[in-house]
Amino acid sequence: MHTADVVIVGGGIVGSSIAYHLTEQGCRRVLIVERESHQGKGSTGKSMGGVRAQFTTPVNIQMSLYSIPFYAAFDQRLDHPAGYRPQGYLFVATRNSHLQYLEKNQNLQKSLGLHDVLMMSAANILDLVPQLRADDILGGSFCPTDGFVDPYSAMTGFSKKAVENGATIWKSCEVTGISTASDGTFAVTTSRGEVQSRTVVNAAGAWAAEIARMAGIDLPVTPLRRMLIPTEPFDGVSHEIPMVIDMTNGFHFRPESRGFLLAWNDPEETPGYKFHFEPDFIEKVLTRAADRVPCFENLAVNPKRAWAGLYEMSPDHHGIIGEFEELPGFYAANGFSGHGVMHAPATGKIVADLIMSGGTKVVTDVAALSPSRFRAGRLLHETALL
Ligand SMILES: Cc1cc2nc3c(=O)[nH]c(=O)nc-3n(C[C@H](O)[C@H](O)[C@H](O)COP(=O)(O)OP(=O)(O)OC[C@H]3O[C@@H](n4cnc5c(N)ncnc54)[C@H](O)[C@@H]3O)c2cc1C
Repeated sequence: MHTADVVIVGGGIVGSSIAYHLTEQGCRRVLIVERESHQGKGSTGKSMGGVRAQFTTPVNIQMSLYSIPFYAAFDQRLDHPAGYRPQGYLFVATRNSHLQYLEKNQNLQKSLGLHDVLMMSAANILDLVPQLRADDILGGSFCPTDGFVDPYSAMTGFSKKAVENGATIWKSCEVTGISTASDGTFAVTTSRGEVQSRTVVNAAGAWAAEIARMAGIDLPVTPLRRMLIPTEPFDGVSHEIPMVIDMTNGFHFRPESRGFLLAWNDPEETPGYKFHFEPDFIEKVLTRAADRVPCFENLAVNPKRAWAGLYEMSPDHHGIIGEFEELPGFYAANGFSGHGVMHAPATGKIVADLIMSGGTKVVTDVAALSPSRFRAGRLLHETALL
């Protein structure tokens, strides 16, 4: 019989950050159980790696205000590169309603301590990205500390440090059942045998609902496919530009290697465990790309290099973080709805704080993230989704 102080189901960036933060706080007997032979095969390895604090709710902004400085100091702190590149996020507004929305969000962001975010005129925007078609651009919003990280490398840094601190990772090991004894101890059944622990954390990404169901809990997390298109090398636009978001239709892109990474949230996508890339998606994205950046008409794309992964969607597009009232000792770290990489540092700290001391200072209202909010009807509303 194996035992651990905390069992973490899932060894992606979220499980790895939780293990790191727990071991930094002195909780050393941490076991990560990962089904795949390598970490990062879930959503973490498929991510676009964008990090931003330009959100619309206090709790999401505060999670970014912990996470982005953490990524900025990551390499020194963990002795491993996170690949943080502060190239910014540029939201490009083409309607007055967009500008009002961005201004309102900036007031909240600034009130919470995000001082660098600024409104941009159309001329400012063209200074940053001269290749944009600007006849309908009214202005926008830019935050220079937003940017990109390397999700795989950050995940590896977290888990490497956690292991140095005493944590253990079981790879190629699947969790198949979770039961509770009358004294509150969990028995986690895995393909390597049973593990007993008083604390279990669900960090299973898009598969989180299945893990919760094993423990008899209904967790509203659904998988939703997202596809990304890397271009072949292209020098017609600078590689120092920010993530650019065309608010007209949600098309966004950023520099990646010697080319660009193109993304768009297809409103016709339906939930499910879909991992294949649809070749038809390329035309949909390239049409929007060339519409906003005319020289992108000459972009070359190799469909074989494009990929699909899963967002883990929650009903209100916020993470679900905290202990289940109905099952003490069982914690959720799920439902990030496309923000799991950027919010992994804050999530790891919050979960470690809750387990070790029952509270956290990372966000003002941690209860807002709790799993019980759905039953209680206390849903949050994040509209700045990409
Ligand atoms: C195309 C795309 C672009 C994205 N872009 C961004 C972005 O720009 N910025 C951002 O912040 N986020 C982005 N995301 C979202 C981000 O990737 C996820 O929110 C994040 O990776 C979630 O991390 P995780 O550790 O919770 O999940 P995962 O990385 O999926 O890890 C969960 C792990 O649990 C394991 N597991 C599942 N079931 C079991 C079991 N029964 N037993 C043992 N192990 C199990 C899986 O194998 C997996 O490794 C993007 C996602 C996609 C798909």
